[in-house]
Amino acid sequence: MRNASEVGDLCTGCGTCTALCPPRALEMRVNEKKGVYEPVLTGECNDCGVCLRVCPGLGVDFRKLNMEIFGREPDDILLGNYEACYVAHSTDEKLRYDSSSGGMVTQVLLYLLEEGLIDGALVTRMNPEKPLEPEPFIARTPEEIIEARGSKYCPVPANVALREIIEVPGRYAVVGLPCHIQGIRKAELLNRKLRERIVYHLGIVCNHAPSFKATEFLLGMLGVEPGDVKGIRYRGGGWPGGLRVETEDGEILLLPEYWGSGFGQLFMPDRCQMCPDHMAELSDMSFADPWLREFNGETQGKTLMVTRKNPKILDKIRKKGLCEVESIEPSRVLLSQLYNIYMKKKVNMIGENIYNAEFPPIDPMDRLIAIIRPRNTKMPRKLTLKYFTFYAILASLKARMDFFR
Ligand SMILES: Cc1cc2nc3c(=O)[nH]c(=O)nc-3n(C[C@H](O)[C@H](O)[C@H](O)COP(=O)(O)OP(=O)(O)OC[C@H]3O[C@@H](n4cnc5c(N)ncnc54)[C@H](O)[C@@H]3O)c2cc1C
Repeated sequence: MRNASEVGDLCTGCGTCTALCPPRALEMRVNEKKGVYEPVLTGECNDCGVCLRVCPGLGVDFRKLNMEIFGREPDDILLGNYEACYVAHSTDEKLRYDSSSGGMVTQVLLYLLEEGLIDGALVTRMNPEKPLEPEPFIARTPEEIIEARGSKYCPVPANVALREIIEVPGRYAVVGLPCHIQGIRKAELLNRKLRERIVYHLGIVCNHAPSFKATEFLLGMLGVEPGDVKGIRYRGGGWPGGLRVETEDGEILLLPEYWGSGFGQLFMPDRCQMCPDHMAELSDMSFADPWLREFNGETQGKTLMVTRKNPKILDKIRKKGLCEVESIEPSRVLLSQLYNIYMKKKVNMIGENIYNAEFPPIDPMDRLIAIIRPRNTKMPRKLTLKYFTFYAILASLKARMDFFR
């Protein structure tokens, strides 16, 4: 890849090309205009083409990868191949409270590490030296896994950390958004070490990862200069939680439930609008927020989980008393994300007919509920936030009109 323009606006910013590039000629850098990561040629390119072959932005053969991973085409074209669905939460109340939803991603990783089933996990924390910069890394201790808890609503080139998995033998888990998991699956087809060493793929359900412009906007709302930020957490503090910014002066500023207003859609990168994979269909397990009526009163957090491979792990974690788990109907999981999945599968350009299958009929009432989501949003109190919410809702409504059509 001579430069990012070879992939153009199809780049997801996942970082797979950078980790796999044999002459190490690529680096992920922020495109300041767009506020997203892109690969930049910084060394000598040998024209091997590996970067383009592992790029999920250029295209993902979902049929082929489903056959490779699960041995069959998807059971359900909206959820993907799955074994069962659950609602779960960690029994470590602090972890649960500090994580995004129920702390289940972190809890699964802690179990795998403590049982010796993995030697490390690819996760993402915010860089302690540069607090607004996400830092993907291989966590090798429980403390490091816990440090990485919580969703990062900004671009994350997580797959740059695949380089360490290629270089250091061991068994690994990876945590990523759908585009990260797609890149990893494509890279595994080419690279035997990745195929053998990555033993668990944990997928984060994702509508989109907002550009860095979103973080700038939120800091502006709070009246904080980026240079004054000492630490930022996009989620945590109970469910559904909110943004927490710590300034160099020691001030703590909070913005509750800011994403629920549809805010993120104002800062959705173009590439996310083309993505057909909301549920991280190529992962072994997917994790989501429980956006369902029955969880409206929830304050501590619960994670919706779709198990696709290795289903026994969850039962083992439960038997050790590390989490509480209940079954939930797949249709409820679908309903919790219905508007977003439907947008991705039906409306998005590339999403159209990835499996050449008909879309299942959707109950009109379910469709209506999906449109009037998010119902968990509480109107922020500050006047400025009301303006902001008003504009965000307008943008959100505009996007929802597509759903009606
Ligand atoms: C950008 C983004 C969009 C999302 N969109 C939706 C949605 O539309 N609907 C929905 O139901 N849920 C969505 N989620 C998922 C939700 O926010 C939680 O991540 C999920 O419920 C798991 O919660 P948890 O408490 O089990 O995770 P935790 O235990 O808090 O662990 C989260 C893990 O994810 C990793 N991680 C966090 N952010 C990123 C990132 N940007 N890239 C790669 N790895 C990351 C962390 O390193 C950590 O290991 C989204 C998450 C993100 C990051």
